[in-house]
Amino acid sequence: MSTFNTQHHLVPAALEAVCTVCSVSKTVQRNLERLRQITKDDRSPVTVADYAVQAIISLSLADSLDASDCLIVGEEDAQALRSEDQAPIRQAVFETVRAWRPSVTEEEMLDAIDHCDHDGSSDGYWALDPIDGTKGFLRGQHYAIALGRIENGNVVAGVMGCPNLSSDQAFPLNKQDVTGVVYAASSGAGAWEFADCDPTTSPMRIMAQQYDSNRPLRFCESAEKGHSARGDSERIIESVGTPGEPARLDSQCKYALVARGQADGYLRLPTSKTYVEKIWDHAAGMCIATEAGAIVSDVAGNPLDFTHGSRLEQNRGVICATDGLHQQIIEAISELAIA
Ligand code: AMP
Ligand code: MG
Repeated sequence: MSTFNTQHHLVPAALEAVCTVCSVSKTVQRNLERLRQITKDDRSPVTVADYAVQAIISLSLADSLDASDCLIVGEEDAQALRSEDQAPIRQAVFETVRAWRPSVTEEEMLDAIDHCDHDGSSDGYWALDPIDGTKGFLRGQHYAIALGRIENGNVVAGVMGCPNLSSDQAFPLNKQDVTGVVYAASSGAGAWEFADCDPTTSPMRIMAQQYDSNRPLRFCESAEKGHSARGDSERIIESVGTPGEPARLDSQCKYALVARGQADGYLRLPTSKTYVEKIWDHAAGMCIATEAGAIVSDVAGNPLDFTHGSRLEQNRGVICATDGLHQQIIEAISELAIA
């Protein structure tokens, strides 16, 4: 039985960074309305949170790791943020980052955001989604901060903050917990849950739960209709077992639900022929789910292929489910000629 101490050597730095930004992003989410008024833009709160989280993760990793261990493929760059018409947003991002590190200059902050422009061509790098589930963030609901570590084309570690998810599985998913949870995993060392987004608490090992066909199949999918084909999910689940009520929520928190035994599967079925999944939307979540014993693949049953830079060029859709059930879902997709 491994202990948390056997994690990949870069995990403690990632854990520290992600736990820090969980509380930073929650503060921004609590101030949604004030930010909307200052910037006169409905989406601005998530823009501010995106940039601030990316800046803090980048600065925080640089504090404790060698430069060669700090390459980051991030979702955002600061080019737009440097322009004059973005001054109110830039100011709000700066205030947010300064609340964490009072000594930071605006230029250091912008450079830290731009530092996350790695193209994924090196042997080892991080894939960062600063605010995954932006729509959930804006609705005041679930979102995740996802930091995955990729080495030689393999995801070797993942840290994910779910600031509105409760460690109490009885807590309703349609309500937001005040404390949140952070997950950390790395190859061969299991997946672990830190209650209260606190890296100093003693973590609990999480395990996916074997699907029991005597009860309704508990599956989760995106809250956004455009991100996963719901009709297809329904057909698949009906052909595999008795459908339970789907849990619909934003972000990679869905991987955590399977990883901690709260859901049997997470289905992400293509809604278009052209959409290509991004590595930062899956690296951390996939690592946590697989280390908890679940299986993750695309809709054809192939492993997700992280050897093509920022995009999962060779894959379509994602199926994450417990062992056994995963195979049944892939067979159903093939039989029903879905995707
Ligand atoms: P979720 O919260 O599970 O709905 O996923 C959010 C992620 O969906 C975002 O980070 C986007 O990168 C991604 N996304 C955007 N458009 C699509 C699409 N058409 N199909 C699947 N994912 C998408
Ligand atoms: Mg995302």
